[in-house]
Amino acid sequence: MIIARSAQELQDALQLKTGTIGFVPTMGALHIGHRSLIEAARSGNDYVVVSIFVNPTQFLPGEDLSKYPRREEADFKICELSGVDVLFYPDVNAMYGEDEVRICAPDVRGFILEGSSRPGHFDGVLTVVMKLLNMVRPARVYFGKKDAQQLALITQMCHNFFMNIEIIPMETVRESDGLALSSRNVYLNSAERQEALKLSAALKCATKMLMQGNTKSAEIKEAMEAILEPLDVEYVAIVNRAFESIDEVVTGNTIVLVAARVGTTRLIDNVWM
Ligand code: AMP
Repeated sequence: MIIARSAQELQDALQLKTGTIGFVPTMGALHIGHRSLIEAARSGNDYVVVSIFVNPTQFLPGEDLSKYPRREEADFKICELSGVDVLFYPDVNAMYGEDEVRICAPDVRGFILEGSSRPGHFDGVLTVVMKLLNMVRPARVYFGKKDAQQLALITQMCHNFFMNIEIIPMETVRESDGLALSSRNVYLNSAERQEALKLSAALKCATKMLMQGNTKSAEIKEAMEAILEPLDVEYVAIVNRAFESIDEVVTGNTIVLVAARVGTTRLIDNVWM
């Protein structure tokens, strides 16, 4: 595995490769969710590039940028054992200059839910993803459905900017008790980890209600809120794939999303129906 730390090193590592590149952008502290993306990239392409970069422009002031988990040695090992060909591991100076053009999230989908809870977050995400895609130039890029709104906005950006890259959405990988894997789960103490299960429990309840024939968003949301109640809930939302709020769940075109704080840790989860 080649470790590239700058655009030049990345270019040097990639220039001899002929064939398709599958790319997995991450912020590190890799877990089995990330590994599922790497494995899909491995099996669908000739080469796999993973990036690990804790992107400062997507963190708001007061968020967890400085304490975001960093696991260099373990991450390198996971990438190596997963058959990654090139690990792109830049520092901030390799990615950003002093004064730069930024990509702005579109109004309609960028400023609701995560965009309204974390104003400016998606501008940072889209900017760094644009940079990374231009540097790696993959045939396919792999993103988790867990970050559903991010996935939708990146898909829109690639469409709007005529970028010829196939975006592969990947299912959310969970612990056996339902908790969605996240690098931020390490912040949870054992009592909080139990509380955090309320997010996946609320989503399971939504799925069960739908399976029982209840398609009313208001009723599903009410039942979910009752499960989530002790937590500091930021939003419970039921939207279609275009992220428009819907009164009735339509199978095949619905995402149910939740964001809540457990202690000081902000968690998100969702289910696609
Ligand atoms: P992050 O390192 O959190 O920025 O995530 C990097 C990629 O991994 C993103 O596309 C995420 O959506 C994806 N991801 C994060 N958690 C999971 C999970 N539990 N299952 C599948 N993909 C995930």
